[in-house]
Amino acid sequence: MSQAELADLARRFEQYLGDPHDPASRMPFTAVLDHDEHDTFPYAFVGMLRRWGFLDYGLPAEQGGKAGNPETGFTLMRLVARRDGATAIALGLTQAAFTPVWIAGTDEQKRRQIADIHGGVGLSWGLSEAAHGSDLLNNEVVAERVPGGYRLTGEKWPIGNATYSDRMVVFARTGPRGGAGDYSILVVDKWRAEAETVRETHPVRQHGVRALDLSGLRFDGVFVPDSDLVGAEGQGLEIALKTSQTARLVILSLALSGVDTSLRTALEFAQGRVLFDRPVVDVPYTGRQLAESFAELMIADAVCLGAVRSLQASPAQVSVWSSVAKYVVPTLLEETLSRLNVVLGARVFLRTHPRFGMHQKMLRDLLVTNMADGNTVVNLRNIGHQLPSLLQQALTAEAGVRGEAAERAAVLYGMDTELPTYRPALQELSSRGMDDAVLAAPDSLERLRALAEEAADKDRDRLLLAAGVAEELLDRLGPLRERQRLLQADLGRGYAHSAELFDLAQEYCLVHAAAACVHAYVHSHGVMADPLPSPALLLLQLERLRLRFAPYEPYRDPDAAEEVLALLVRLDSENRLLSHWPITLADRTAPAGDVPRAEAR
Ligand SMILES: Cc1cc2nc3c(=O)[nH]c(=O)nc-3n(C[C@H](O)[C@H](O)[C@H](O)COP(=O)(O)OP(=O)(O)OC[C@H]3O[C@@H](n4cnc5c(N)ncnc54)[C@H](O)[C@@H]3O)c2cc1C
Repeated sequence: MSQAELADLARRFEQYLGDPHDPASRMPFTAVLDHDEHDTFPYAFVGMLRRWGFLDYGLPAEQGGKAGNPETGFTLMRLVARRDGATAIALGLTQAAFTPVWIAGTDEQKRRQIADIHGGVGLSWGLSEAAHGSDLLNNEVVAERVPGGYRLTGEKWPIGNATYSDRMVVFARTGPRGGAGDYSILVVDKWRAEAETVRETHPVRQHGVRALDLSGLRFDGVFVPDSDLVGAEGQGLEIALKTSQTARLVILSLALSGVDTSLRTALEFAQGRVLFDRPVVDVPYTGRQLAESFAELMIADAVCLGAVRSLQASPAQVSVWSSVAKYVVPTLLEETLSRLNVVLGARVFLRTHPRFGMHQKMLRDLLVTNMADGNTVVNLRNIGHQLPSLLQQALTAEAGVRGEAAERAAVLYGMDTELPTYRPALQELSSRGMDDAVLAAPDSLERLRALAEEAADKDRDRLLLAAGVAEELLDRLGPLRERQRLLQADLGRGYAHSAELFDLAQEYCLVHAAAACVHAYVHSHGVMADPLPSPALLLLQLERLRLRFAPYEPYRDPDAAEEVLALLVRLDSENRLLSHWPITLADRTAPAGDVPRAEAR
């Protein structure tokens, strides 16, 4: 799908959903807060979105869906999640649960599942077990071979949609030892099961995404026919890990959207709230906090731009892209929301208020992006494992390797470049030292400096300053390699599990994020919609990353924040998604009187 088609689809989808501040729209904040307040599953939202055809954008076109492009599904998910993360997950889980079938299923299995989904069937993804969490190789749900199929015993918990859905795609042990080749993927159909062999566990009441059905499924010898084994027996771990790579990227849409909604709430509050004879937004410290929050959201957006497109453009490297994003985005944006708490003050506590109540909901909902589909620690550990080879390549790669990485970076971060069709089976579990974002960074820095030479006045200065800050961050890779070597030498066998290795992995992720900001600018500046691109924004993005290493150092260009705030005000007033993607939101139709000033009191 071209960038123009994606923008058009998103625009039509937004118009369909309507202004969330308008109680008469299809998915208003008032109803969203009501579901959250009462822990009630959003059946009507899910049904309405299914009828619109939302699920097809996460199901392969070859077998009856409309997807070949996770970027489209990610964008649509963002638009749902800016209204309600619980509905977004409730829908996305059917797509996530289909991913194992997409990876390893037969053509017939794909067609059958998709036809049934069109007929109303919902899927859940049964990976986790209460006793084992991330420790997948100790999972205990067992599938015993019987004539014509398997019988499953054990319990999956906590699972989104376990009660609501009709089928669960289950990761179960089919081998004797619990080794890497002893697990398989099987689809349990609740409506074909003998009554006494499947039981839903009581839904839990949650802290965030409260409207989601989070429960479990207990199996007591439930029969699964051979035709519902997905992939080969023993291939389950590989399929599950690849599924997690995609799922963990998709769920990041919730983090981006949570901050989009909260940042608009805080901005509009600060514009309307008058203290000491002036709007709060004019207080330089508050104005800068809003600009910093926007810059951080745009760092996360740039990281996601490359990472989501890597599913198609660099599937062999997805293990790195998805783990970097899964660490950077929630970690950074949780801090962003904390800063917005300070801007909003007492209004953070207004739980059911139709405008401010959304912020406290987003605060709670965003937490799920930190732990579901592989928690932050699992992802840092994955980067830690690959760190020696990633750093070695980053520092010593030959010109040819860098050139190829630069070519791929132009696709990864060029929003208008066509992507190859998504083939999840091509994803690899290790990237063998390759990370196009970092390898192509010197090329993009050169392009950035060339763009600076073509720019005038302040823009020129800011692009040059941005290139300098980015280079400084990239230069951290040499010392990082030295520290990693020393740590390995010092700790020997204890190195791989040491706390210090996680620290080094965090630093690597931040350097990748800095590279992502530069790539997004140089490869998409020509196709961003006015008022983007912005040299001031790029500079502030990179400054925010630099200050993570030195929190009390002054900004190199303190005035950049003022310009970034003006940009944020414009995007908000023009109803644009706070993103590099040029997405226009639903028209404002909320009845008069629903204005921030009146509510701010
Ligand atoms: C709203 C929601 C929806 C969910 N939906 C689903 C679903 O649809 N399907 C599904 O299968 N699961 C689902 N889960 C479960 C989720 O994926 C689990 O949270 C995940 O498996 C991690 O398990 P855990 O949080 O229990 O953490 P554990 O794996 O028990 O880890 C506990 C803590 O140990 C620490 N730790 C230290 N070392 C490590 C290490 N090496 N690796 C990991 N952690 C380490 C971390 O701080 C971690 O938080 C859902 C969870 C939530 C909250």
